[in-house]
Amino acid sequence: MKATKFIHVLKTPCPGNNSVDPLVWTSVSVILGDEITIIDSAYAGFWKSKIIPFLKRVNRDPHDVSLIIHTHSNGDHIGSDEEIREATGAKVAISEAGAEALENPGKDRERHLAVFAHILSKKEQEARRERAFRRQLITHHVDRRLKNNEVLDLGPLSLECIMLHGHEFDQLGFYDRDEEILFSGDALFGRGAIRDTFVYMRENNIHGFYESMAMLSEMSIIMLIPSHNYLPYDRKPILRDREVKDMIEQTVSINNEVREMILMLLRTYPRPLGAAEMSSFIIPRLGPGYIIPNPGPDDVVLSHLDALIKENRVELVEKEESIFFRLKH
Ligand SMILES: [Zn+2]
Repeated sequence: MKATKFIHVLKTPCPGNNSVDPLVWTSVSVILGDEITIIDSAYAGFWKSKIIPFLKRVNRDPHDVSLIIHTHSNGDHIGSDEEIREATGAKVAISEAGAEALENPGKDRERHLAVFAHILSKKEQEARRERAFRRQLITHHVDRRLKNNEVLDLGPLSLECIMLHGHEFDQLGFYDRDEEILFSGDALFGRGAIRDTFVYMRENNIHGFYESMAMLSEMSIIMLIPSHNYLPYDRKPILRDREVKDMIEQTVSINNEVREMILMLLRTYPRPLGAAEMSSFIIPRLGPGYIIPNPGPDDVVLSHLDALIKENRVELVEKEESIFFRLKH
């Protein structure tokens, strides 16, 4: 799909937990200058099946691809890097934190597992570790580390790198200040992706998340290109005008709902509650079709719980190797 004369957005299927769900896609944006830049490479295989056929359609030589820039290092955004590098010699650029994750995936897995460890029981930590170790680790090569507010000159347009907190610790948005276009990666997830209708908050930085959202709502953005088809715009790879503000507001409001429900549960329940039981109460109440992608406490609930602990509103109680939470009086 053509966003502007220079920006084209390709939709690539995004596999679900067990199979390829044709309803969820990952966006690969192609910027056509004298040289070609690709924003995120989706899963493996799409260089040959999607990107090359597109470039041929617009009469461009695939060898003109010289740069891949990444919104973040999650598997659904980086999978075709090696294929593209091999075919074209393109350089790979990502945030400093993303580079560390790609170059040292074993260390990154440990970092991810440590994010919520202080509010998880031993058993919950082990379940997460077991799940994380099922995934195969692949080391990627990174050529360039992008800094917050660094401006990339891509020929027909310049993109400013903007650190966006909440979804992942290494997430960058790319902002075209002249045309007021933002590539938001997974930082703006609206009401989640339609596969499991859920939001992913894996950084455990609620304060930073609200700051990023406030910053985005102050910015002038007339076109938004998110990395997936997030609700309520699950048919649109490109959002415009009022849809952009709405997407920011929906991303904030679903988080507010989670926070309010945690407080309501802790206020009304006669005993301290575990994060897993709160998750199984809260997630289905976000709307029809909402399920927890993995059993146990969910990251969005854990993120808000940890924020409430830091705000001194909630405290943690350890009892017989389990962890519970209650309001602080
Ligand atoms: Zn993603």
